[in-house]
Amino acid sequence: MSAPILPSEKLFKAGVTHGFTTRALGDVLGSLEPWERQAGLPRGSVIWLNQIHGTDALVVKQPADICAREKDMRYDAAVTDRKDVVLTVRTADCVPLLLFCPDSGAVGVVHAGWRGTLAGVVTSALSAMQENYGSQPERILVAIGPCSHACCYEVGEEVHRPFRERFGSEAVQILGSARHVNLVVANKTWLIECGVRVENIDVVDLCTCCRKELFFSYRRDGAMTGRQMAYIVAGAKTDMEELTLDGDEE
Ligand SMILES: [Zn+2]
Repeated sequence: MSAPILPSEKLFKAGVTHGFTTRALGDVLGSLEPWERQAGLPRGSVIWLNQIHGTDALVVKQPADICAREKDMRYDAAVTDRKDVVLTVRTADCVPLLLFCPDSGAVGVVHAGWRGTLAGVVTSALSAMQENYGSQPERILVAIGPCSHACCYEVGEEVHRPFRERFGSEAVQILGSARHVNLVVANKTWLIECGVRVENIDVVDLCTCCRKELFFSYRRDGAMTGRQMAYIVAGAKTDMEELTLDGDEE
């Protein structure tokens, strides 16, 4: 029996409405209803990005329907402090990232495949939260959701080399004669370089490609497979004792 929606422990403790759906809820490209019902979300509040493996972040300042009418929505990241919208990305091996600032209640969502990871799409979300909501990276909580891990993420030399050069040996692997990259390590590298604390990064440690019973996987099942949803809703300011900056030099 698998849970229909997996939480991040850190975001759960912070009281943030969020989650990563599993295939128990079906393909979110087919119908959003089972997910909306299970998650208790109001209908019509979903921010649906037209993910293009780019690096731009959308700042959501209006309700979801107005946003969809006025923007062309070609983004792979979004941030907001509005509590009446649900930020989402769909994935089926790419990395979904959820961000939460306990000081402002602002949130962010990111879709990072190998292209977006290499280009640092997650830094766009961090910058947008900083610029718009005053979020300090060292205070932001980040959840890295289920994605294809290095075990299943085989690439060619044209991808392996830039990963090796940019993120170091920890982000790449050679398995037999095959080249693999580790998208989780690469995204963590960006986050830590930007000032996010390693103890504030939560990895939901499940490979979408290995765990067939839980997830859709593009690499395992091909382009016609379903998609998972990662989602987050802006919350109240949260005073978590886990977040106190003890040990800070200042
Ligand atoms: Zn795997």
